[in-house]
Amino acid sequence: MSDCIFCQIVDGDIPSRTVYEDDAVLAFLDANPLSPGHTLVIPKAHHERLNDLPAGAAGEVMAAVHALTPAVEAAVDAPATTVAFNNGEAAGQEVPHVHAHIVPRFEDDGGRP
Ligand code: 5GP
Ligand code: ZN
Repeated sequence: MSDCIFCQIVDGDIPSRTVYEDDAVLAFLDANPLSPGHTLVIPKAHHERLNDLPAGAAGEVMAAVHALTPAVEAAVDAPATTVAFNNGEAAGQEVPHVHAHIVPRFEDDGGRP
């Protein structure tokens, strides 16, 4: 078994709530959401940082982020989202498998996630 938490989610060894899945990408709900509907989008292949991804795989992740962002907003009736990559440990990346956060935002929700 991989020692990467997100690879274990891809492999079904750790349960998660799938939002979207295709051959290259998995999106699932964050276990410790910053707001309702907080979704993570990952490549199924293990790469640590954004620029470890081949350009084609980065495009697949971004296409999924692009498609899912309005769907996430609609699902929780949010007027906005923060979409972000924590890219490297010093930036707050705790799971070393590249992932985009889609965080629903609401009026007066207290600032940045
Ligand atoms: P990072 O700080 O690396 O950008 O974000 C990692 C995110 O992964 C955090 O928001 C954290 O709540 C989430 N996370 C960590 N472990 C798990 C897990 O086992 N399942 C799910 N669904 N989310 C996780
Ligand atoms: Zn991984």
